[in-house]
Amino acid sequence: AQTHKTVKDYIRTIVDFPHEGIMFRDVTTLFADPRGFRMAVDQMLHPYAGRRIDKVVGLEARGFILGGAVAHQLGTGFVPIRKKGKLPHTTISQEYQLEYGEAIVEIHDDAIEAGETILLVDDLLATGGTAEAGIKLVERLGGQIVGCAFVVDLPELGGRKRLEGMGMDVHALCA
Ligand code: 5GP
Repeated sequence: AQTHKTVKDYIRTIVDFPHEGIMFRDVTTLFADPRGFRMAVDQMLHPYAGRRIDKVVGLEARGFILGGAVAHQLGTGFVPIRKKGKLPHTTISQEYQLEYGEAIVEIHDDAIEAGETILLVDDLLATGGTAEAGIKLVERLGGQIVGCAFVVDLPELGGRKRLEGMGMDVHALCA
């Protein structure tokens, strides 16, 4: 019998990780499955077929796994946005708020040229704080964001509204 699993079927939920009350969406089971991983990558880039995309920007860490595969498939370069202190060359930094405290992400200051068109990739959209910081870094370098692609959108956390409010095209495969 044929199975028709969707991307969501490959994602596992871990209760109380990383702390109590959190239902963590574990995408490692999606990445580990040959059909699941290919389906996710194909679906992420599908809306952007025929659009000019110069670079894919991935957010640490699961955005690297997806973004690298998406960039390969689109035939573009890949640029990482990393947590503070990880990138070796000169960077620009962006601070953003976490549930408790704040975090800083960085991009190499020569990674994007003004006018380049960018697809931003991460595994999951929650409050949108991480993606917003990434968008700001790309835009500060003069990059033009064509879209923001995620595997999972948790709409009750407001990330989509937040990014759409910034004029972003938000694309997610499941909720
Ligand atoms: P936000 O900044 O939108 O609140 O949180 C999204 C960021 O946190 C993403 O980089 C994402 O990888 C990570 N994240 C938050 N919650 C989860 C989750 O349940 N599962 C996974 N895989 N990542 C999460």
